[in-house]
Amino acid sequence: MLRGLRVVVAGAGLGGLCLTQGPLRAGCAVQVFERDTSPDARRQGCRLHLDARAGLTAWRRP
Ligand SMILES: Cc1cc2nc3c(=O)[nH]c(=O)nc-3n(C[C@H](O)[C@H](O)[C@H](O)COP(=O)(O)OP(=O)(O)OC[C@H]3O[C@@H](n4cnc5c(N)ncnc54)[C@H](O)[C@@H]3O)c2cc1C
Repeated sequence: MLRGLRVVVAGAGLGGLCLTQGPLRAGCAVQVFERDTSPDARRQGCRLHLDARAGLTAWRRP
């Protein structure tokens, strides 16, 4: 149903990149725009810890 839709996301932070996942999997063309010129253009967070559950997705769970 969403296939062929064009989605534009402003911001390539955690929220923006998470947001792209649904439309991408639904077959939409997704474009992400980021204001920062590079990943180290400004000081950002220290670290993000992902444990084994991070790789699990809702549709893979039994
Ligand atoms: C100093 C600091 C340290 C932190 N350390 C940690 C940590 O160690 N671990 C952790 O899990 N969390 C940490 N956090 C919290 C974490 O950074 C935030 O929870 C997370 O980044 C929020 O994600 P977000 O996508 O909402 O916003 P952001 O990460 O801020 O992303 C928004 C993005 O949108 C871009 N943007 C904004 N307006 C526009 C526009 N008009 N056009 C294009 N692009 C635009 C911005 O440049 C930015 O890249 C820290 C935060 C700070 C401030």
